[in-house]
Amino acid sequence: MDQNLITTVNRLQDALATLGPNANPIDLPQITVVGSQSSGKSSVLENIVGRDFLPRGTGIVTRRPLVLQLINRRATAHPEKTQQQNETNEDEWGEFLHIPDKKFNDFNEIRQEIVKETEKTTGKNAGISPVPINLRIYSPHVLTLTLVDLPGLTKVPVGDQPKDIEKQIRDMVMKYISKPNAIILSVTAANTDLANSDGLKLAREIDPEGSRTVGVLTKIDLMDQGTDVVDILSGRIIPLKLGYVPVINRGQKDVESNKSIQEALAFEKKFFDEHSAYRANSHYCGTPFLAKKLNKILYNHIRLTLPDTKAKIENTLKKYQQELVSLGPAEAVSPSNTVLATITEFCNEYRSILEGKASDLKSTELGGGARISFVFHEIFNNGVKSLDPFDQIKDGDIRTILHNSSGQAPSLFVGTAPFEFLVKRQIRRFEEPSLKCVTLVYDELVRILNQILAKPQFNRYPALKEKLSTTFIGFLRKALIPTNKLVTDIVDMEESYINTAHPDLLKGSQAMSIVTERVQASKPVPVDPKTGKPLPHNSAALSKEQTGDDTFGGFFGNFFASKSKKRLAAMEPPPNVLRASGQMTERETIETEVIKLLIQSYFGIVQRTIADLVPKSIMYNLIIYSKNEIQKELLEQMYNTEDMNELVKENEFTVQRRKECEKMVAALQNASDIVSSV
Ligand code: GDP
Ligand code: MG
Repeated sequence: MDQNLITTVNRLQDALATLGPNANPIDLPQITVVGSQSSGKSSVLENIVGRDFLPRGTGIVTRRPLVLQLINRRATAHPEKTQQQNETNEDEWGEFLHIPDKKFNDFNEIRQEIVKETEKTTGKNAGISPVPINLRIYSPHVLTLTLVDLPGLTKVPVGDQPKDIEKQIRDMVMKYISKPNAIILSVTAANTDLANSDGLKLAREIDPEGSRTVGVLTKIDLMDQGTDVVDILSGRIIPLKLGYVPVINRGQKDVESNKSIQEALAFEKKFFDEHSAYRANSHYCGTPFLAKKLNKILYNHIRLTLPDTKAKIENTLKKYQQELVSLGPAEAVSPSNTVLATITEFCNEYRSILEGKASDLKSTELGGGARISFVFHEIFNNGVKSLDPFDQIKDGDIRTILHNSSGQAPSLFVGTAPFEFLVKRQIRRFEEPSLKCVTLVYDELVRILNQILAKPQFNRYPALKEKLSTTFIGFLRKALIPTNKLVTDIVDMEESYINTAHPDLLKGSQAMSIVTERVQASKPVPVDPKTGKPLPHNSAALSKEQTGDDTFGGFFGNFFASKSKKRLAAMEPPPNVLRASGQMTERETIETEVIKLLIQSYFGIVQRTIADLVPKSIMYNLIIYSKNEIQKELLEQMYNTEDMNELVKENEFTVQRRKECEKMVAALQNASDIVSSV
C-alpha cells in the first residue's frame, strides 16, 4: 500500500515533469545526512540509492554539498536485460547541472566527475566549499526524492583548511537541515560514543522534538567483541521519536577491492541474522529496513500534503483551461468568418464608444465620445472666443482707412466700406482654429481606433489588425477632405458677404450715441481761468480746431513734426508709405470708436455662427459619416479579398502560448486523474 502511494507520486512527478521545477505543485522532502567526518554518511546514501557512485574513504572526502535528485522513470522495455551493477545501462543515467547536455551512463564516471568538480572549487588539499554540486539520477530503480550529502563535521583544521572550518561546515549543514521538509539522517559510527555524536547534537538543535530525525548507526561490524547498540536501539540512551537503525556499509578494504553492493548487503543481512544481540530483531536492522523506514516517512509526508497537492493541481488546471479558451481554437474556423466577425466586433465597439455606451466605461478618464465633446465645447469654443479683432486692428489703422475711404474730401459720417474691409480681414482668422478642430477630432477618432485594437481579442491576428488599422485611417483621411472643405467654405461664406442688415448687429445710430455718451463722460470739464467756473460745453476744444492755430496738430501733424525746418522749407514729396498720425481730433475719435463697436458686434455674430456650425459640419462629415460608413468600407477592403488567408495568420506568441497551455492542460489533466484515483 505504501509503495502504491509513492508510485502514485512518482507517476505524478512524471506527469508534471513538463511543468518545470517552479510550477510543480508537489513538494517532496529532502533527505539530508549529518554526522562527523568519516562516520559513513556517503556510504549510507549510496546504499539507499543502490548504486556505487559517491566518493568515499577515510579523511575528508565529501567537501562540497551534493544535491542528489533521484528521478524514477519507467524502464523502456528490454525484456532480456536486467539491472546489472556498474555496467552501462540505457535506462539509468546521471546528469550534472554544470554539464547540462551530457548523459553519464557509467556510474564510475559519475564518481570521477564529482571528485573533479569538487577539486575545481576547493583545491586538492582538504578545502571545503558551500557551493553545491547538483546531480540527477534517472532510474527505474530509485524513488523520486532528493538526497543531500554534506561534508562531515570536524573540529581541527587540517591541510589548507581555514581556522574556522568547524563553523563553516556547521553553517553549511544548518542551512540544509533547517528546511522544514528536510528529513535528517543523523549518522553516528557505532564504534564511537553516541553522547559525543556531532550529528545528533546538531539534529537536536534544529529538531528538538525528533519528529524528522532518523538515527543511523554505522560500522556495527567494527564494534569491539561483546559490545552492541541494543541499548541505543531501545531508546534508553538518547531517545529519538523515529528511532535508530543499525547498518553495515562497506569498509575501507571493501572499497579498495571493489566489493559490490549486493555482496555488501548479503554480508550485512548475514551479520544481523547471526549476531546474538540482534538476531531476535534482525528485521529492524540493516540498509533495507532503513530504506523502508524512509519510504514510510515519505509516505506520511505525501499523505499529509496530498489534499493540498490535489487542490493545487485542480487550480492550476482551471487556470490553464481558461487561458486556452481565451486564446481561441487553434485553427480559424474559416478566414471569411473570422474577418467578418472581427470587422463586426470592431464596428460595434466603435459605435458604442462614440455613443458613450462602451462596455468598459471608466470613471477615471473621459472616453471617446466625451473626449470629442471636450474638443468641441472646451478647446474649440474657447479658441474661437479668445479671438479678439482688436489685437490686430489698431486705432491708427482705422483712422487711415477712414481717411482713405473718404477720398480727398474728409467724410462726415461712417460709411460701410471701411467697416466691411476691416471685418472681412478678421473673419479669415476663424479658418485656422476651425481646421485645427477638424484635426483634433481626427486625432481622437484615431485614438479610439487604437483603443479598440489594443484589446486582447485583436491580438490574435496581427496582419488582420494591421489591415483594419490602415483601412480605417485611409478611410478617415478620405473623409477629411470634404470635412476640411466644408469648414473652409463656412469661413469663406462668412467672408464673402457681410450682412450689415443682420438683426443682431448694432445699428449705426445706436453705436453713435453710445460713443458720444462715452466721449462726453470721459472729457474733463473746462474751467474759466478768471471765474473758476465751468465753461460752456465744448467751446475750448472746438475753437482750436476751427481756428487751425495749432501748428503741428491735425492729421499730418506728427509727420511734419519729425522733419527739420530745412526740409519743411524744401517741400519734399510725400513718402511712399503715408499713415495717419498725430493726435486724433474728436471727430476722428468718435468715428474710430463707432467703427470699433460695429466690428465688435459683427465679429461676435460670426464667432457664434462659427462656434455653432463648425462642430456640426465635423459631426456630419467625419464622425457620423465614419460611424455609418466604416463597416461598408472595411468589408469592401478586407472581406473576400485575395489576401484574406494572409490576414488570419495567427500571432507567433498566440501559437506558442497555446501549445504551452495545451501541454500544461494535458499534464495537469493526467495528474488530476492520477490523484483522484488515490
Ligand atoms: P563520510 O565521511 O561520513 O561520508 O564517510 P564515508 O562514507 O566516506 O566513510 C568513511 C570510511 O568509513 C570509508 O572508508 C568507509 O569505507 C568506512 N565505513 C563507512 N561505513 C562503514 C561500516 O559500516 N563498516 C565499515 N567497516 N566501514 C565503514
Ligand atoms: Mg562523505
